[in-house]
Formats: sequence, C-alpha cells, structure tokens
Amino acid sequence: MSQQLHAVTGAGGFIGAHLVTHLKAKGHKVIAIDIKAPQFSTIDADLYKVMDLRTNVAALAKLIEGVDRVWHLAANMGGMGVIGNPDYDLDVMQDNLRIDMNVLEASMMGKVGRLLFSSSACVYPESRQLMDRSEALHEVEAYPAEPDTEYGWAKLTTERLCALYSTRGKLETRVARFHNIYGPLGTWQGGREKAPAAICRKMAEARRDGEDVIDVWGDGEQRRSFCYIDDCLSGLEALMESSYALPLNIGSDRSVSINELVRLVAAVAGVEVRLNHVVGPVGVRGRNSDNRKCLEVLEWSPQVTLEEGIAVTYDWIEGQVCASGS
Ligand code: NAD
Repeated sequence: MSQQLHAVTGAGGFIGAHLVTHLKAKGHKVIAIDIKAPQFSTIDADLYKVMDLRTNVAALAKLIEGVDRVWHLAANMGGMGVIGNPDYDLDVMQDNLRIDMNVLEASMMGKVGRLLFSSSACVYPESRQLMDRSEALHEVEAYPAEPDTEYGWAKLTTERLCALYSTRGKLETRVARFHNIYGPLGTWQGGREKAPAAICRKMAEARRDGEDVIDVWGDGEQRRSFCYIDDCLSGLEALMESSYALPLNIGSDRSVSINELVRLVAAVAGVEVRLNHVVGPVGVRGRNSDNRKCLEVLEWSPQVTLEEGIAVTYDWIEGQVCASGS
C-alpha cells in the first residue's frame, strides 16, 4: 500500500499506541491524538497532539482535514472495576458519547477518507450471556438491545451513529466489536486494568513477595475470550481496508474461565498459588466471539495462542511490577 495519512484517537492508550507503531512501520504518516501523553512508551507519530475530544470539534476537524484513515479508539474505559461500577457510569456514558459525536462530526467536516470506530462485545444483550457456556455471540444478536453496562449502551449508540453518517453519505465508516484485547503496554494497575493484566500483576506481586494466594473476583467460573494485540491489529487493518460497513467481531473464539486464565498465568510465572474467591464486579457469566462472519468477509482469524500471548504479556507486566517497586 502506498503511503497514506492516518489519524489515531486514543493513541496514548493500549491499542492506540500499538497501532501507531504498526502504521509507522508500514510507512504511513500518523497524527496521534489523546488527552494525555503516552502511558508506557514514546510514540513515534509524526505529530502527537494532546487534545480533549469531549470538546474541540472545530480544532479536530482542522487537524485531521483530508486524512485518509481515522482510527477512533479514544474512550473513557476500563475493566469491570470501572465500567461495571455505578460510581462511574454517568461519566462513562457522557464522555464516550461526547467524544464519539465530536470525532464523527469532525471527520465529516474534515472530509476524511474513512473512519473506523472501536466498539465492544459489551454491546451484546445480557440475556444472551447468562450461562458459563453461553453460545458465541454473532453480530446480528446485538438486537433486541440490552447491554449490561452503560458503556455498552454508549458503544451501541455510536455504532448507530456510524451507520447514519454512512448511509446518509456523510462519512464512510467501519465498526470493530473488540472482545478483550490484551498484551504489553496496557494498563496493569490503578483500577482500570482488565482481567489478564490484573491477574498478571497479582501473580508477579505474589512471586516477588513469596505469597501463595491470588484474589479472584466472583467464583472465577465466568468465561471470556481473549485476543492478543498483534491479532487485533491485523484484524483491524483488514476491516479498515474491506468494503464491509456493518459491525464485525474482532476477537478470539476460544473462551476460558477466569480460573483457567489464572492457572495459565501461574504456569507461565512458574508459581503455585491458591485461588481466593472474593466479592467483586464480574460482569456477564459467559461471553465469546462468533468469528464466522469475520472469517467470511476478512478471511481473518487470530493466530496467537493464549499461552503465547500471556507469556509475552506476563513478562512485560512482571518487568513493570519490579521496576515500580510497589
Ligand atoms: P485505553 O484506555 O488504553 O485507551 C483509550 C485512550 O483514550 C486513553 O489513552 C485515554 O487517555 C484516551 N481518552 C480518554 N478520554 C479522552 C478524551 N476526552 N480525549 C482524548 N482522548 C481520550 O483503551 P484501549 O484498551 O486501548 O481501547 C481502545 C478502544 O477500544 C476504546 O474505544 C475501547 O472502548 C475499545 N475497546 C477495547 C477493548 C479492550 O479489550 N482493550 C475491548 C472493547 C473495546
């Protein structure tokens, strides 16, 4: 592909930082945008712009005017400790709708070539995810709508906005529904980390401190699928360049229980731990990605096994834990 101009919102976050590196390695020019400086790495963007996307629509439109591709990843998000917490749900809903409406409007005003919106498996109805072994979620099952969090409702609303901009001829859009993306450079402490990072951190702390107990929220039999960042990037890229304008799952279709994930991390870390099940926000009981549609339209499926991805992620988080001394 010849050199293009790309803009990445949320470039200071986990997926955004990896995406900027990926796009630069492919020879593209990249404008990176975030409300804060990058968290864990320096970002090799052509321009790194600190900007609050809840406002500044005109400035954003000017900044991204004429770019070929906008990857819209900025969001107020976190693990279940944030998106499943009533103390945060109003902020999450307000911030994300404001950010999304502004980025879509600015992209239309700036006549960008195409925008990809990062939606989430959280859009799927709670009633389809009540069992450990609930069947994998197919894209059409998002309706009748009943997401279990306000975060999911906000994502679903923006999916609909994308469809409106697209069908009204205002902006070409693509929509990825991510299922638990994990890997190095993701938030690993502070309350916004997601399950794989939290478990890797707890394991690294246990190893360092010679502890043999790990706290796990709920009974640990809740199931999820986890997709490694490199697979996420290849899926995203395939979707962005495809002609497919409807929402598409980007995730792994191998579900594991949280207890299984903990044991896997323990094996990677080489420690023996007891699982102490404590009360905590656990979300839906069983969630998995049905990948038939993305295999059909993108010929894409994840290639990195959970064992391989966790090994790399654990190493990175253990390094962070040791370096932080906390
Ligand atoms: P992240 O939290 O690491 O990155 C999001 C970035 O958005 C952060 O750097 C944050 O500073 C930035 N941001 C927040 N508010 C902003 C504002 N007002 N203005 C500008 N920037 C702002 O999250 P991530 O894991 O990289 O996720 C990227 C996208 O993918 C998000 O939209 C998220 O909802 C979606 N998603 C991620 C997952 C996952 O497993 N990581 C799953 C489903 C959906």
